[in-house]
Amino acid sequence: MKAAIIREFGGPQVLQYEEVPDPKVRKDQVLVRVRACAMNHLDLWVRKGLPGVKLPHILGSDIAGEIAELGEYVTGFTVGQRVLLAPMQFCGRCEQCVAGRQNMCRQFTVLGNGVDGGNCELIAVPPVNVIPIPDNLGFEDAASVPLVFLTAFHMLTGRASVRPGHTVLVLGANSGVGIAAVQIAKLFGATVIATAGDARKSDKARELGADFVVNHYEQKIGDEARRITKNAGVDIVIEHVGVATWNESVKALKPNGTLVTCGATTGYQAGIDLRFLFSKQLNLLGSYMGTMGELHEVLKHVFSGKLKPVVDRTFPLAEIREAHEYLEKSQMFGKVVLKP
Ligand SMILES: [Zn+2]
Repeated sequence: MKAAIIREFGGPQVLQYEEVPDPKVRKDQVLVRVRACAMNHLDLWVRKGLPGVKLPHILGSDIAGEIAELGEYVTGFTVGQRVLLAPMQFCGRCEQCVAGRQNMCRQFTVLGNGVDGGNCELIAVPPVNVIPIPDNLGFEDAASVPLVFLTAFHMLTGRASVRPGHTVLVLGANSGVGIAAVQIAKLFGATVIATAGDARKSDKARELGADFVVNHYEQKIGDEARRITKNAGVDIVIEHVGVATWNESVKALKPNGTLVTCGATTGYQAGIDLRFLFSKQLNLLGSYMGTMGELHEVLKHVFSGKLKPVVDRTFPLAEIREAHEYLEKSQMFGKVVLKP
């Protein structure tokens, strides 16, 4: 098969598009022909070098395609079936896994991070990862869903316990997590303040359902959030930007408000004035991916059309270097998808 492989960490030039042996399907696995693989910022970090990544390595976490072959022990699927893949791997038998908290499993990792991913033509996975998709959901849209919608769903529901009437501040509405979080917060009856970097992205954020949009380059996010909430502050902040927005995100919170973060794209050494933390009784929560139960739950809303993936642009897998350069510039609104 063709695959994009890295043999060393570094810039986009370390990505090599070449012929590699097909994966061998174990008797307890499903072989999937990859039709689309959406990119995440994780791809960039893995390419630049993350601990635990063994070389050579295939990137790519968000996969949609067709079942090409079923291992002897696998039942309940048919060859040719259209599917997406849960973007994670876990042991399936530890205390956390059997309790449904797969993202707390000690062996938990993301496809394309701790194990090979989907920047290739064929991938073998356990049946628990394989989720059939409706006929009206295209492969590019399907691939754009799992990681970011699961992450945003876990942040809002599993961690921050969003409720109708809450006000939710979503940072970076153009990002994958932002696009998902705006829609999920609206689905749960919240008022959404989104941030965006220009007029085009602001319009798109409103189209997704954002009630208010703040330009995070021209306006102070914390001040605007306070103005919009008539000085009350917001109940929940969805953070993934990191150092560049952290102080403003904390400022935007109301007493007993919750900041939940899943990333640090602009840097991870953020600080906090402890006087605000205790006197305002703030909740600062970390969030990482989500559970299999949450994935199935959020997918129901995607399959019914209530939550919509947004694809910015597709690239042939052979042009993966250009795709990485494009993602690095952060000019997109929505997902960048590679097609083998
Ligand atoms: Zn486990």
